[in-house]
Amino acid sequence: MPEAPLAADVDTLVKPSVCPLDCPDTCSLSVDVKGDEIVKVRGSKANPYTAGVICNKVARYYPEFVHGPARLTKPLKRTGPRGSDQFELISWDEALDLIHAGFTRAIDQYGPQSVLPLNYAGPHGELAGGSMDRRFFHRLGASFLSRGPFCGLVRGSAYQSLYGTAPGMPPEQIADSDLIVVWGNNVTVSNLHLMRAINAAKAARGAKLVVIDPKRTKVAEQADLHIPIHPGTDVVLALAMAAALEERGAHDRTFIERWVDGYEAYMAHARKHTVADVEQICRVDAGTFQQFADWYAAGNNVGVSVGNGIERGHSGGSGIRAAMALQPLTGNHGRRGAGVFARPGASFPKTTGRLQRPDLAPDGTRTINIVDISEKLLDADLDPPIRAMMVYNHNPVAMHPDQNRMRRALAQEDLFIAGADVVMTDSMAYCDVVLPAASHFEYADIYGAYGHQYLQRGEPVIPCVGESLPNTEIFRRLAARFGFDDPIFRESDHDLMDAAFADADQKLQGQRPSRLPLDTAIPMTSDGRHELILCETVEPGTLSGKIELFSRELEERFGYGLPRYEPVPQQFPLIVISPSSDRRINATFGGGAASSGPEEVEINPADAAARKVGNGQTVRLRNDRGEVHLIARVTEAVRPGVLYTPKGTWLKTSPTGQTINALLNADIRTDIEDGACYNETFCEVEAAM
Ligand code: SF4
Repeated sequence: MPEAPLAADVDTLVKPSVCPLDCPDTCSLSVDVKGDEIVKVRGSKANPYTAGVICNKVARYYPEFVHGPARLTKPLKRTGPRGSDQFELISWDEALDLIHAGFTRAIDQYGPQSVLPLNYAGPHGELAGGSMDRRFFHRLGASFLSRGPFCGLVRGSAYQSLYGTAPGMPPEQIADSDLIVVWGNNVTVSNLHLMRAINAAKAARGAKLVVIDPKRTKVAEQADLHIPIHPGTDVVLALAMAAALEERGAHDRTFIERWVDGYEAYMAHARKHTVADVEQICRVDAGTFQQFADWYAAGNNVGVSVGNGIERGHSGGSGIRAAMALQPLTGNHGRRGAGVFARPGASFPKTTGRLQRPDLAPDGTRTINIVDISEKLLDADLDPPIRAMMVYNHNPVAMHPDQNRMRRALAQEDLFIAGADVVMTDSMAYCDVVLPAASHFEYADIYGAYGHQYLQRGEPVIPCVGESLPNTEIFRRLAARFGFDDPIFRESDHDLMDAAFADADQKLQGQRPSRLPLDTAIPMTSDGRHELILCETVEPGTLSGKIELFSRELEERFGYGLPRYEPVPQQFPLIVISPSSDRRINATFGGGAASSGPEEVEINPADAAARKVGNGQTVRLRNDRGEVHLIARVTEAVRPGVLYTPKGTWLKTSPTGQTINALLNADIRTDIEDGACYNETFCEVEAAM
């Protein structure tokens, strides 16, 4: 049942919902609705992990996102140059006809693989995120898109190389840790509720907190030890730590014997990494490192959170594996509070194949890496070329590395581009046809999470704004327009929910996904009863049944059976890292008033003084790819040689019409999985005037 309204206003209804944004926490929401309008968004207690607390960005910016002036309410047809934001209103029938014509032109000339969906993780619900749309593109025979290399696949693959398919530690269990290591995770900005578990552990058992991050983030300020590591060198620190823990007698031989595979090969490699390497390569002083090793060795229950920060460097897959490997080496599994907080999402019994139907695609359909898109779009020799595309759940202009190359790619007049979004974005401005997508407050969906193990369902809280439609209905209509008459293209949203999860799985406790109550969240347990504890209620899901420190699969696929460090040559003197903002979720909300001005860049006083840059001054960041103007904030929070600026700004925020993504290199890739390397960005800074 909906919760009671907090407001005395009798015209205001309070309705339950779930946050769909690309954030691990997937909060349960209470939405105040007056008439057909959302007037307030708050946290609800339906999900016991998020427990009524949400971030400021959703509370502040969502109502404007849904009802503000940028909201798309009718289909549009481009009338001016690409990117110019010149459109005319058209009907849905006209829009579907134009998309049919654009796709058909490409298919007639080059075959169906010349069509490509370009979507990412705008909304995270199972239906909006990837259901009827995938069925449509699979049936069309469009090229497959590999989305994981953009973000998350490297971390997931690194985790899986050790633990296989087993889910990691649920975040609540951090409350039982006595040493908490937060590694490359800006918790207060992008993993808010983990902070509460950390604080609970501190209060209840005096737990120590170690934060490893190149920047002194808010969580680092609260840490007992902050290790300001040089970006991209985590693997060296972790391998040296494995050796230091062995020297301290902290390896748990009994646990290793029972649960670990590849120990000797791993340690023979790790022992080559010294404290001197940590000082030289990681730029961490020996005393700090020894303190960390002492605390790790003394910890009875070490809980580790490895965020996405590490995977943004070339040696990212290796860094994540080596950081996680410290846990099995020291026997920190098999009880509450000891483990790696990662991939709780693996606990959901998803039936993605049934939902998305990749079997509809012709055999031999090619797959294109999402990070390669701009290069592939411009590749005259690509056979077949990409000549029609649909951009949805994504803002590639704002989010992809090498922004200027992406804009050149999207500007090609012989490329047909359809788009769908909730608001007009920098990317929609390049489309031939723009469809108005409904926000998640306007449709039903079902939500797993990648930061906790609660399954939640939502129903619409307001009708679709204007003529906007949910993604599922957009692709039902497109399927009908293309003459796809199989019943799977007419399934309702509730049918799709039931297709998304194995309802016979014990974890669903006998409930149909489409009937899950709206006022609760269902915890995914090991067998419908016991909470997830690796090496206790769940076993490693690897071929050996053990935690694998040497990965045969990663050796065969990439030549990285063991993690290792490989520095990237630095062409400019400063490294830029561009993590999450506290005003945006990736680029979502980037068009709002709070994100309209120039973004800040944090710079160490030594670097600022060397360039005669003062606090608050407009500075120019440039390299051989692009140039962006930002406002300098001179601070000791970033180490010398490193700049920090939040990602997700839109083009209008800099007079150059470029954002920090214009400086990012799309061609440097991670050691495993060919992922994007956002942190391997080098530039120079100078005063802009
Ligand atoms: S963005 Fe994250 S923290 Fe904010 S409301 Fe959504 S799920 Fe919760």
